[in-house]
Amino acid sequence: MWVAELCFKVIADTNYATAEAALRTYLEALIFQGQVLGREWPTHFAQDSFFCRVVLPSQDALLPLYHSQRGQTALAQLGAAGLSYPQLAILGQDLMSNHTDPCHQNGEQPAAYIWYSRFAQMNSVLYCAEHFAPVPLYQAAFRQHQDYEDVIRWQLQFQALDEVQMQQASVLPSTERSLQGLHSQLNQQGRQLARECANALQRSVYYALYSGTSADCQNETSKICPSCGGAWRLNEPWHGLFDFRCDRCYLVSNIAWQCQG
Ligand SMILES: [Zn+2]
Ligand SMILES: [Zn+2]
Repeated sequence: MWVAELCFKVIADTNYATAEAALRTYLEALIFQGQVLGREWPTHFAQDSFFCRVVLPSQDALLPLYHSQRGQTALAQLGAAGLSYPQLAILGQDLMSNHTDPCHQNGEQPAAYIWYSRFAQMNSVLYCAEHFAPVPLYQAAFRQHQDYEDVIRWQLQFQALDEVQMQQASVLPSTERSLQGLHSQLNQQGRQLARECANALQRSVYYALYSGTSADCQNETSKICPSCGGAWRLNEPWHGLFDFRCDRCYLVSNIAWQCQG
């Protein structure tokens, strides 16, 4: 991932509120298109320009060809708010985030994907199943209109719950049920999105089912697929992370963290 700065020059009469609203609308569109990662964009004003600091999944992430209709509109409306089109400066590689999957960048489509999220990772929820590296949503382009707001909002919910359970594991059992229950609303929504993606891309999309605690650690390693009841234990963990994979239900999971080590 790349740290970049967007510069919006003030080119006509404006005021702070108008400019701020236009910037916000544009940056939000970039986030909902998967072109900008994270939810915050530190912004400052210097001389005659606004500067926004962002993290991009690839150096060409901001090309308008990846914009949704909302993004195109927000870009066009910068002028009405007295701002220029943004100038992009790539500042360097982001040392705090992981590497974007090479497949799509090289014009290849992964054979399969994994739908995976954790609270600390702000990158795309869609991972290449071969490299286990995130694929930017606009590159996967599983929707022609390139608007992934519901995917981003799902990820935000998942991450918020994940962070709560990291902080105070057993205090909030309802959080854990949402995260690891196959039929929780969170996982139903997530699986629905993963299925949509699989249908559009004509590829398998495995849904990573979180597993933190278990009522029965003794039998945790021989648990069955929660969807079809079939055997799904792998001989070797997949990507060092997933001990279970069901190729009927497109589910992967792990030995509950609580029962490991
Ligand atoms: Zn790949
Ligand atoms: Zn299954």
